[in-house]
Formats: sequence, C-alpha cells, structure tokens
Amino acid sequence: GPASPPEPGPSAGTPAAASPPRQPAEEPEEEEDEDFQFLLCEGCGQDSPHPRLLRCLHTLCPGCLGSTKPAGQCPLCHAPIPAAVDNLLVSNLQSRLKVWRQIRSSGGPGCSRCRAERALVWCSDCEEFFCGRCLEEHQWWHKKKEHKLRKVEEMRAGSARTFLEDTRTSCSLFCASSSHPEESRVCSIYCPRCERALCCPCALLDTRHAPFRDLRAESRRRQDELRSLRRDLRRRRGAFEAALARLRSESSRWEEQRERLRERVRASAERLQQLVRSEAEELGALLEARPERGRSTLAEELRSVEGTVRRLEAAERVVDRLGRYGGEQELMDMQPFVKSALLELQRLRPPEPAEMREPEDFAECRARLRTL
Ligand SMILES: [Zn+2]
Ligand SMILES: [Zn+2]
Ligand SMILES: [Zn+2]
Ligand SMILES: [Zn+2]
Ligand SMILES: [Zn+2]
Ligand SMILES: [Zn+2]
Repeated sequence: GPASPPEPGPSAGTPAAASPPRQPAEEPEEEEDEDFQFLLCEGCGQDSPHPRLLRCLHTLCPGCLGSTKPAGQCPLCHAPIPAAVDNLLVSNLQSRLKVWRQIRSSGGPGCSRCRAERALVWCSDCEEFFCGRCLEEHQWWHKKKEHKLRKVEEMRAGSARTFLEDTRTSCSLFCASSSHPEESRVCSIYCPRCERALCCPCALLDTRHAPFRDLRAESRRRQDELRSLRRDLRRRRGAFEAALARLRSESSRWEEQRERLRERVRASAERLQQLVRSEAEELGALLEARPERGRSTLAEELRSVEGTVRRLEAAERVVDRLGRYGGEQELMDMQPFVKSALLELQRLRPPEPAEMREPEDFAECRARLRTL
C-alpha cells in the first residue's frame, strides 16, 4: 500500500521548541547527587572518555572492564558480563558538563569562533559559544533554520542540573541513510518496522517504511516503557530487600550461635584442664604421702625375711662346724642351746604370698587415672 503520512506529534512543525515537559513522576525518583559522581567509572571512580554500560547496568571505564577479577564478572555486583555498550548518556553528559563548567568559570566562557571576545550566547544546535559579532554572522548563516540560543548570563544563574536537563535535546539525531551521504539531515520520523529514526524525506521517499511515528512520540513511549518497568522492578526490589534482610539476620544469628559455642568450648576446655591439673596434683600427693604405712610394713617384712635367711645360713654353718670340729665338751655345753635355737627356726614360716597385697593407694590411684 501507499506510505501513510507521518503521525503528527504534539510538537510537530516547531522543531526548535522547548524539550518535552517532564512526565509527572508517580513516585519520587531518586535525586542524583549534584556533584555528578555518577559520571565517573563505578569501578575506579575516575573520569573516562569512553564509559561502557554493562548488562548488569553498571558503568565501567575500559580499563576496569579489561581487568575484572575474576575475569568476565562485574566487580560491583558479581554478575557475568556477556555484553557491554558505550554509555552514551554518561559520555554526552560529561561533555555537556564541561560546557557547564565553562559557563560557570570565573571569567565566563570565551567565544568559540573568534576566541577573542567573551561569549554572550550559547547555541545548543551548534554547541558553541558566540560573542556579539560572531553571533550576527551565525544568525545570517542559519537564517533559514532557527537555532536555539540562550544567554550565557541566564545560564550562569541556573544550576548544573537545570542546564543538563535543558540541553538534553540539543544533540540532534542525524539520518544515517545512504541516500544522501553529502547532506546531514535531522531525524524527526521513527519507523517501528526498522526500529530506527529517519529524516522526513527518507521516510516519505521509501515506501518500505510504514506506518510512521513521530520521533518525539517514540522517545516518550520509550521513556514510559522504561518507567513502567522501573515501577515493576521497584516492587520486586522490595521482595529482594526483604530476602536480603532475612538472610542477613539468619547469618548474624548463626554467627552469634557459633560464637556462643566457641565460648563454651573454650570454657569447658579450661575447666577440664584445671580439673586434670588438680587431680594430678592430688594423685601425686597420694603416692608421696599416704603410702608411708604400706611402705614400712613391706620394709619390715623384707628385713625380717632377710634376717631369717641369714639365721638359717648361720644355723647350717654352726651345725656343720660342730659336726666337723666339735668334741664332747662342746657337745655337752652347746648342743641343748643350739638345738633349741634350731627348733625355734623350725617354727618360723615364710610369709604367705597372698599376704603380699599392694598398697590400697595404688588401686585408688589407678582407678582415678582411668576416670580422667
Ligand atoms: Zn574504571
Ligand atoms: Zn554490575
Ligand atoms: Zn566571536
Ligand atoms: Zn547555531
Ligand atoms: Zn535521511
Ligand atoms: Zn522502516
């Protein structure tokens, strides 16, 4: 069928109109810090001209991206890094922030053209500062296309945030079609089938592109799509945060219990050591002090048996000598005495082996050692 005409957007026909009004947020969006720390690499905190946006939506400079440890893992959230794109938002904001710093510099920005005079205005289409004289030339040159000009003094009075918000539509999207390589034309049409922006003539001349959308309407649709996803994710984040809190309290509870057990182990080890030490001291004392009694009876017995053995030897010797050398006189005088002594020896009995009981203390000592 024939190409349908482009849907007129709300601001169609006024290409230099102010940026579309911000959608009223249904929930407060987080305020970005005014010092624009978010433009720095989230890994090393350094300024990088080529920041890369990872699949996990963290932004790293090429240096940090090339040296992730472990390799291929985001250093901030540990997500794998399957792909990364140039973070155009950050690099564009960086260059716009540079312009803002020029605006706020002590003497104000100089003219980008003659580089001699102080600048009076900023052209957001040319992205250049102009002094009064160079501005006249600029106005003559661009008299067909109205460029959006802003007074430097007014901008100086505003905030960086306002400046960045006001200049967000300043970077025009140029048609990438090969049909007009010499001329760069600003896109105003969106083709949903090709999913790309086109200049108006390209859209009308090529019948494959249909139906069209206004580029601004498509931009807003894309913003809305992201905002609605963000709302949904905010709800999910609540569930994840609850899970995180649960896991954290669980883990701290376990840590507490582990510490309590560790303390108990330490205390009971100490108690056991003390017990063992005092038991050893007691047993040592038992072996040294109490066996006095048992020791002396054994010693007495030893002495008495030794004495008996010696008396028996002596008796044998006396009888042998009397037999060998004794005459009648010796026999008459000594025999009754020797005989009664021998009879006395005859009555002696060696101690029974059963009576040789070890001291009771030993048994007690052994028993207590076993229970240790
Ligand atoms: Zn970095
Ligand atoms: Zn990450
Ligand atoms: Zn100038
Ligand atoms: Zn201009
Ligand atoms: Zn084109
Ligand atoms: Zn198309």
